[in-house]
Amino acid sequence: MATEKITDVRRMLHWPGHMETDYIYTLGLAGEKFFSEIKQNGRLLGAKCKRCRVVYLPPRIYCERCFDKLGEWVNVGTKGSVYTFTMAYVDINGAKLKEPIVYALIKFRDVEGGLVHKLGEVKPPEIRIGMPVEAVFKPQAERKGDINDIKYFKPTE
Ligand SMILES: [Zn+2]
Repeated sequence: MATEKITDVRRMLHWPGHMETDYIYTLGLAGEKFFSEIKQNGRLLGAKCKRCRVVYLPPRIYCERCFDKLGEWVNVGTKGSVYTFTMAYVDINGAKLKEPIVYALIKFRDVEGGLVHKLGEVKPPEIRIGMPVEAVFKPQAERKGDINDIKYFKPTE
């Protein structure tokens, strides 16, 4: 497990890069189910390989180990832990933010992959690698079936 703190946003964006392409790749297939489940039920679903017993999040359409098609959905819960995090001090146009935004890669127990999302209800000095967090969802009426239906992840302790 990597414990280094990534301070350069570009490095973090590059590191989970294959994850982002997975999002795009699976959006019409596994992704559709994934996001509709967030919208309807506030649940995070992973895709499980029956042969390898590996659970992937975000869900994929086939297993990276044995290339079997993934058909089984598992509820991975809404609680994970901070695997790594980084702070953004400027917005996408380079304008300085009033408050830095903290982005983290959230990992879930016994799940391969993870979600990159914002951290909330916590000040940067209190954030640490391995910190347990849980997803905070928007009210159901405001959910649109995308990753922003999760407002952020907040510490559970
Ligand atoms: Zn497999």
